[in-house]
Formats: sequence, structure tokens, C-alpha cells
Amino acid sequence: MLCERCGKEVYKNEVCNYCKKKLCFNCVKSSRRVTKTNRIVICKDCWGKITKRKQFKSEGRVEVKQEEGPSYRRY
Ligand SMILES: [Zn+2]
Ligand SMILES: [Zn+2]
Repeated sequence: MLCERCGKEVYKNEVCNYCKKKLCFNCVKSSRRVTKTNRIVICKDCWGKITKRKQFKSEGRVEVKQEEGPSYRRY
């Protein structure tokens, strides 16, 4: 199969989460694991677009739930 961005032949491709193009390793700008099973990939084209880049960064940020513990001390 061929990379949809540069046309290079690839064995294993990655798919950009924003433009849905199949990419070779060189065309992937960054990838990030969001959850244990979910991974998002951004290509170099989309990285150049500020809105998509921001989206990528915010999606990658995992929200940490603060556990409600016995943090209030009573006297
Ligand atoms: Zn490529
Ligand atoms: Zn893309």
C-alpha cells in the first residue's frame, strides 16, 4: 500500500485522526496514547494547521479525576 501523503510504499501505515489519510512513518508528526486502547495520530499537514494542532494537544491530555478522600479534617 502507498502513503496517501507522499506516495511512498509502506508496509504498516498509520491513519491521521484529522484528515484520515493513510500515512507512512515519515509523514506522522506525532502520536499520542489517549487511553489504553485508543491512540491518536496527527500528520505533518494537520500539524501545520493551528486548530488541528490544538485539538490534538487537548485530546491527548488525559483528565485526571481527583479522588474524593478524607481530606477534610474535623476537630
Ligand atoms: Zn508519507
Ligand atoms: Zn492529517
